[in-house]
Amino acid sequence: MKRQIAMIAFVLVGMSMTASAQFGKKINLGKALQAGKDVVTAVTLSDADIAKMSKEYMVWMDEHNPLTKPDTEYGKRLEKLTGHIKEVDGLKLNFGVYEVVDINAFACGDGSVRICAGLMDVMTDEEVMAVVGHEIGHVVHTDSKDAMKNAYLRSAVKNAAGATNDKVAKLTDSELGAMAEALAGAQYSQKQENEADEYGVEFCVKNGIDPYAMANSLTKLAKLSEGVAQPSYLQKMFSSHPDTMKRIERAKAKAATYAK
Ligand SMILES: [Zn+2]
Repeated sequence: MKRQIAMIAFVLVGMSMTASAQFGKKINLGKALQAGKDVVTAVTLSDADIAKMSKEYMVWMDEHNPLTKPDTEYGKRLEKLTGHIKEVDGLKLNFGVYEVVDINAFACGDGSVRICAGLMDVMTDEEVMAVVGHEIGHVVHTDSKDAMKNAYLRSAVKNAAGATNDKVAKLTDSELGAMAEALAGAQYSQKQENEADEYGVEFCVKNGIDPYAMANSLTKLAKLSEGVAQPSYLQKMFSSHPDTMKRIERAKAKAATYAK
C-alpha cells in the first residue's frame, strides 16, 4: 500500500502537509525560532554549504520515501515523460517518483526532481510536466535554495551541530528530519509562485507540450481542494482563493503568448 511521503518539502502549491509519524515528535517552534535568531548573526551559509546540504537532504529523502523502480507503471511513465531531459539552464537533473499518495512534487537545488504518485494519478502527462516545470522554476530562480537556507536557520539544526562552528557540519539523521519539518513549513511568496508558473509555461513550450498545461494543472488542483473533507492548508489555498484564480489567469495569459 502507498504511504504518505515521509516529509514534504518545496510544497508545490500549498498541498496539505503531513509529517510522517515516524518522526515521532514535532519540532519545537519556540526553540527553533530562538535557534534561528541566534544563527542569523552567528553563521553565513555559502552557496557551497547550501549545495552540500541539498545533496544530503535528498539522500535522506530518498532513503525515507519509497522510490519507484524503473519497471513499474510509474517508472515507465516517468521515463516516457522525463527520460529525454538531462538538464535545464545549466542545472543537471535527475527524476524520481515516490510511491506515496500525496498530490505533490518538488525539486531540490541539487537538481533532484521528485514526483509523488498521487500527483501522477490525478494529472495528465502534460499537467505533470507543467508541475515539474514549475518546481524546476523554483530551483532556477533560487527560491528553493533560499527556502533551504531558511529551513536550516529556522530549525534547531545549527544548534545541534554546534553554534560556535561557522562551517556546516555533516547533518545527522535527526537533524535532517528537523530540517525537513522546517522545510515543510516554508512557503513561497505569490511573486515566486507567479514566476515559477511562468517558468512552467516556458518549460512546456520547450518540451513541445501544450502551454496551457500549467493553467490546467492549477485549475485541477483548485478543483481537487474543493472535495477535501477537513479544512486543510490545501483547501484554504485553493477553494476560490482569489490568488489562485489570479494565478490561473496569469498562466493562461502567458500561455496565450505562445499559442498560435
Ligand atoms: Zn510553487
